[in-house]
Amino acid sequence: MNLVELQTLMDDLYGARDRERGLASSVAWLTEEVGELAQAVRKGSRRQQEHELGDVLAWLASLANQLGVSLEESVKRWASGCPQCGATPCACP
Ligand SMILES: [Zn+2]
Repeated sequence: MNLVELQTLMDDLYGARDRERGLASSVAWLTEEVGELAQAVRKGSRRQQEHELGDVLAWLASLANQLGVSLEESVKRWASGCPQCGATPCACP
């Protein structure tokens, strides 16, 4: 699944509900999921880490939808190497 497909899926699944709850609520959920991911990285199983990474991605996609932002566009700044130095891998000091 690519980023456009992910955003479309999240919009189909939860778009109406997420818009009703509003941006602040989505930011709060994303933040909570990042916290759960941090815990899974520290002491979770591989399966738990995959689960939490998926949840973070899902909420990130949902937030982008509410903002009217394309994640595919957002990541383009890395398409030609490090946004700072332009090198791959990054050669920043
Ligand atoms: Zn760099």
